[in-house]
Amino acid sequence: MRDYYDILGVNRNASADELKKSYRKIALKYHPDKNPDDKESEKTFKEAADAYSVLSDSKKKAQYDQFGHAGVGMGQGGGGFSGGAHMSMDDIFSQFGDIFGSDDMFSSFFGGGRTGRGSSSRRGNDIRIRIKLDYEDIATGIDKKIKIKRSILSPDIKLTDCPTCNGHGQVSQVSNTILGQMRTQSLCPHCQGNGKVVGNRPSNVSPDGLIKKEETIKIKIPAGVEEGNYMTLNGKGNESIIGSPGDLLVMFEENDHKYFIRNGDDVLIEAHISFSQAALGDTLEIPTLNGVAKLKIPSGIQSGQILRMKGKGFPRIRRSNKGDQLVKIQVETPKKLSSNIKKIMKELSNVDGKVQDQFQKMKF
Ligand SMILES: [Zn+2]
Repeated sequence: MRDYYDILGVNRNASADELKKSYRKIALKYHPDKNPDDKESEKTFKEAADAYSVLSDSKKKAQYDQFGHAGVGMGQGGGGFSGGAHMSMDDIFSQFGDIFGSDDMFSSFFGGGRTGRGSSSRRGNDIRIRIKLDYEDIATGIDKKIKIKRSILSPDIKLTDCPTCNGHGQVSQVSNTILGQMRTQSLCPHCQGNGKVVGNRPSNVSPDGLIKKEETIKIKIPAGVEEGNYMTLNGKGNESIIGSPGDLLVMFEENDHKYFIRNGDDVLIEAHISFSQAALGDTLEIPTLNGVAKLKIPSGIQSGQILRMKGKGFPRIRRSNKGDQLVKIQVETPKKLSSNIKKIMKELSNVDGKVQDQFQKMKF
């Protein structure tokens, strides 16, 4: 198996950017859509993807730097294709779709349909987690560190030739037909074409060569997300000896808030004011998603009226504007009156007029 750094034509101190650049260049040149039915190009293309899948992942790169090919759990020989690269086309497109997709020239000839997921049996499992967010954090967006338990390939496993296919990755069957003996080849069901299986392993390692590891992952949660939205972190799921790692799916949930109810991009709150505040008007300090803000209550406001604070709602995702904060006014009638207030109220009742339009149809 060729050295991964040689395959990408970079030296061992190459930066992540250099690796990416170099890989893109090779992938572009040897892409199968550009070189139809050219086995050599396909081989080079896969080899480069294989190398990049390891060197672009800091963990795998460290293992590779230390242990060589064995360290990243891909033995030599076998495999569905002669170079020994373990990745299928689907793996390549699902894992590096963003590299191709980020460039118009690339995405145009990679075609939309090909960036889909690889077959699930050849990938590591996805991990799903939930994160609870406060409205205030959703309003600004937030960086979170989360702890997850991933299955990663143990550095202590030894790979041996698959006993079913003797390391070829393929099994052949001979059957007798009227045309004579027919030989059919198919992917080895034991090793899924990898040619290698996990041999001796320490007791803490699972039969598929994995150990559980707690990892802290940093994620950038954009402003304006909603309950039920989720983010996909490619390749941060469980690893697998036979394919690329699964994804980490982060699902968002919203914490209940002391004051606010969310309605899409708007935020709703109720403000209770006194009879005199309603009659005379006032300026209130109202809690908002970004601290308190002043709200002018016009004199003569009615209970149930809604005031709109423009742009004080949630940011609209992928747009520059924001929703509003809606404040529903509730005028409180005093339940207990001090003797002083009672006296004032009595005076008031002597001077204020009758309510106009006393009876009306109910409004909903
Ligand atoms: Zn096998």
